Amino acid sequence: MITWEKTSSATWLAPKKVSLDEIDPGGTPTAPGDRAATEAKVEKLRTQLADLQDAFRAEESGSVLLVLQAMDAGGKDGCVKQVFKGTNPMGLQVTSFGLPTPEELAHDFLWRIHARCPAKGIIGIFNRSHYEDVLAVRVRDIVPRSVWLPRYSQISNFEDILAASGTTIVKVMLHISNDEQKLRLQKRIDNPNKRWKFRTGDLDDRKLWPEYMRAYEDAIEKTNSDEAPWFIVPADKKWYRDFAVLTIMIDALKALNPSHPKFAEYDGIVVD
Ligand code: AMP
Ligand code: MG
Repeated sequence: MITWEKTSSATWLAPKKVSLDEIDPGGTPTAPGDRAATEAKVEKLRTQLADLQDAFRAEESGSVLLVLQAMDAGGKDGCVKQVFKGTNPMGLQVTSFGLPTPEELAHDFLWRIHARCPAKGIIGIFNRSHYEDVLAVRVRDIVPRSVWLPRYSQISNFEDILAASGTTIVKVMLHISNDEQKLRLQKRIDNPNKRWKFRTGDLDDRKLWPEYMRAYEDAIEKTNSDEAPWFIVPADKKWYRDFAVLTIMIDALKALNPSHPKFAEYDGIVVD
């Protein structure tokens, strides 16, 4: 298990008691400098992540799961695109979880999630996740409290199973401000090439911002564990968000200390 407190990612570890109002979404703690300096660092981190992933894929000894959660326009898609730019797509498995289909609703809430958990050698990326079942579902009152409340411990138990079977789990909340969401949603509406990402329902969720913040705080507090820690990343500045998430991914892979398998039995074989 990773001692996250000892890594550079410790900056973003969620505290035991979470108060999102006290974490500045525009902050840039431990950034190597201004935007230009941080972007230069991001380039280097991409190379580092790619090298680690190469050995991690070859070794197939464990898997990594990155859970990305955020409000609409929080930067989840951009984060996937920017953080994994240098990596080998064959070693990634990205899943976006939207409104459950009728088939998914006919099963328990973790059914569709479990099916997309990464195999050994794979980095799984969840663009939204099982946390929607204690966030959107709770805030929009889709199921009664008696159903969503036990889900926190059900989720923790589920994540324990994954961790015990060799999955390193990192859960990241991209923390944006209400003002930044307003700007980004407006851009989506005004830019014809971005409009496909907009749903009028996003405005309904926006009205429920305070309720969502409380639900995030609860979800993070109740499911934060050594095996499946939460990180809260200030995400109003996209370049800073990329720097933070790259750092977390690198620390996750570094801790596994991946190395290319030796295959000593092939020593001396000559191909004719
Ligand atoms: P997006 O990720 O913006 O494409 O939108 C997906 C939408 O599906 C968001 O509004 C989520 O809150 C919603 N969603 C995802 N999972 C669930 C779930 N299990 N129950 C209800 N809504 C969900
Ligand atoms: Mg959306």
